[in-house]
Amino acid sequence: MLGLMQSEQLLISSLIDFAERHHGEAEIVSRRVEGDIHRSNYKQVAARSRKVANALDRWNLGFCDRVATLAWNGYRHLELYFGVSGSGRVIHTLNPRLHPDQIVWIANHAEDHVLCFDMSFLPIVQAVHSRCTTIKHFVALCDESKLPRDSGIPGLISYEAWIGAESSTYEWPDFDENCASSMCYTSGTTGNPKGVLYSHRSTVLHAWAGAMPDALNVSARDSILPVVPMFHVNAWGLPYSAAMTGAKLVFPGPAMDGKSIYELIESERVNFAAGVPTVWQMLLSHIQTGNLRFSTLERTVIGGSACPPAMIEAFSEVYGVEVLHGWGMTEMSPLGTVCTLRNKHLNLSADEKLKVRVKQGRSLYGVDMKIVDGEGNELPWDGKAYGDLLVKGPWVISDYFKGDAGSPLVDGWFPTGDVATIDADGYMQITDRSKDVIKSGGEWISSIDVENIAMAHPAVAMAACIGIKHPKWDERPIIAVMKKQGADVTREDLLAFYEGKTAKWQIPDDVVFVDAIPLGGTGKMQKSKLRDLLRDYRLPNT
Ligand code: AMP
Repeated sequence: MLGLMQSEQLLISSLIDFAERHHGEAEIVSRRVEGDIHRSNYKQVAARSRKVANALDRWNLGFCDRVATLAWNGYRHLELYFGVSGSGRVIHTLNPRLHPDQIVWIANHAEDHVLCFDMSFLPIVQAVHSRCTTIKHFVALCDESKLPRDSGIPGLISYEAWIGAESSTYEWPDFDENCASSMCYTSGTTGNPKGVLYSHRSTVLHAWAGAMPDALNVSARDSILPVVPMFHVNAWGLPYSAAMTGAKLVFPGPAMDGKSIYELIESERVNFAAGVPTVWQMLLSHIQTGNLRFSTLERTVIGGSACPPAMIEAFSEVYGVEVLHGWGMTEMSPLGTVCTLRNKHLNLSADEKLKVRVKQGRSLYGVDMKIVDGEGNELPWDGKAYGDLLVKGPWVISDYFKGDAGSPLVDGWFPTGDVATIDADGYMQITDRSKDVIKSGGEWISSIDVENIAMAHPAVAMAACIGIKHPKWDERPIIAVMKKQGADVTREDLLAFYEGKTAKWQIPDDVVFVDAIPLGGTGKMQKSKLRDLLRDYRLPNT
């Protein structure tokens, strides 16, 4: 016997329809590439996303054809999110921080038909357009008056001219919720990047779960600043969760420095912000140097890389801002776990709470996880045993786009490539990326633990720990350190700082001071590049 309820498909168009009808006046505020602040709302975004749909129809784009973007977080990008997917096409967010050759490879692999780009990326598009063999149309995300006349890009049109003449009436098509809606390629630190293809169903379910109180707790009372880019895993689904709840959205555009982010938080009364640790480090430095306070910011979700405990402490103890540590992957849409406390934790001391908060968190409904040893046997949830982390759920990948290597799943589970522990309360803690774990004398050292201690030193802006070959111990850790501007610390000071904070054999053998730590396209430390930079480095006394 089937249930007798309506079986409406979970489509992305339903999110913008809902936002327009029930939260039409809720604001969408964007800092534009031009530097000015643009104000819009869900009603206007909905109308303009229907214009996008009509414009794509005019170009005869087929169902599931790919429309690529090279764009910052902003209202036009949001309109494309809804107009492209809502009309049955697939929005493919390209990462502008990748090497141009990689962008060409990805656009050709995805068979993009249209490329919409912010004017900051004009030089990239000029460099790659002739090699992107499937792209037929180029759209510059700007006013007609800002369109360069001699760009050299064939048929380049401004976004405003493209959608300007279109009707804002459009009937969103109805189709199977399992159809593709959007795609994003993994950063591909080894081999070619791989395409992850989200569906309408996975996107809506993920946005729903992400909005729940024990996840990101998104509501119509929020003013949200997603610093996490819309070009990488849909800004953690926040544009969709915000439309689902009617939250105000504040987009930073290209200005991600501490000062610009702080000003936007204050002027738009942002109470919730999301980003990777490197961005929050810049924000913290800015407020610390200027002796500033937050007047509205209540909580921030930090993920994408391990959030150092010192950062969680600084935000909560000094600035009264709650940090939610989150973990996920491109292959997981991305949210897997968020670290929110349970009822039993509420009366713990601040120190005890911090011990829980530094973990990557517990599963959202919809994501199941387990850790296994080298033979695939499940390991206990005791907070001590660590092994390969596997996940499954309706917004976890089943296969890569055109995946020629076969399904990545192992007995229905996706191996994340992370090494983790899970404690008896279900809180998962990442020890390392499996390829970054350091093996010393048969014991494993977590590079994240070594980095977290260095990050707690007041003179350290960023720290990355890597393993260096050692004749006796196989590998030994060293720590590469970028100092804060104007701060000073010696090698000996920093090594002494480790005393008593970790086992002696886990203390790095050396400190290497660097001007910058290489960051990848999504703001994560690129340890492969760092290893390259330090390839001639030799450990002391070896
Ligand atoms: P990406 O698919 O590029 O977003 O990268 C996903 C990977 O980033 C994960 O597999 C983890 O290795 C890492 N990652 C994401 N969030 C965290 C976190 N909170 N702590 C540690 N590593 C993280």
